[in-house]
Amino acid sequence: MRFWRPLRKRVQKELMKRGFCVGCTRSLSTAERVPYPGEENWEFVLCRCGRIFVYDKLINSYRRAEFKEVKDINFAGQLSDPASAKRKKKKEKEKK
Ligand SMILES: [Zn+2]
Repeated sequence: MRFWRPLRKRVQKELMKRGFCVGCTRSLSTAERVPYPGEENWEFVLCRCGRIFVYDKLINSYRRAEFKEVKDINFAGQLSDPASAKRKKKKEKEKK
């Protein structure tokens, strides 16, 4: 047990650095993104399993969001905002 604990932590850190969720190992590149208030180089990344990460554009790296960062933000409202969903669809169309 003493051996596995730090290894697990290391694996989780490595997963996050590479852009994967530590809980469900989905790629975070396809996860929902929400602007981070007051930090234009950061954004919240919402995994479908419910975990929330913070993406730092400057160092191209992810970390777990802290409770104090997310407690005041209504992510449910952000996610169900029809305008932003529309914008996203449009973007995807433009890609093709
Ligand atoms: Zn996940």
